[in-house]
Amino acid sequence: MSNELDFKYEVEIKTSEKKQLLSKEVKGQLKESGMMDEKGKLKINGVSGKMLKRMKGEYVECPVLKETVQFIPCFICKNFQSRVTGKVLCKGDNL
Ligand code: SF4
Repeated sequence: MSNELDFKYEVEIKTSEKKQLLSKEVKGQLKESGMMDEKGKLKINGVSGKMLKRMKGEYVECPVLKETVQFIPCFICKNFQSRVTGKVLCKGDNL
């Protein structure tokens, strides 16, 4: 059975004190999918400026890649299912 809420992991979203910079690769993906303008400003449908600011400071310990991943790249990862109460629901497929 497959539905929109299929997921393998519930990954806790943590907040970093340090400023996190997005890699060129991630910025490229964001631009391609229309989530970042030419000036590098994030624009995600349905996500407020305040929320975007918060997202920039967040990260997860990715159970698939076994490393720290900033929330924004996690958000655009093909395994990203949804975000609920401080957790990412992750499909957990190999990347
Ligand atoms: S959605 Fe992607 S980046 Fe986020 S936790 Fe799952 S595999 Fe890792």
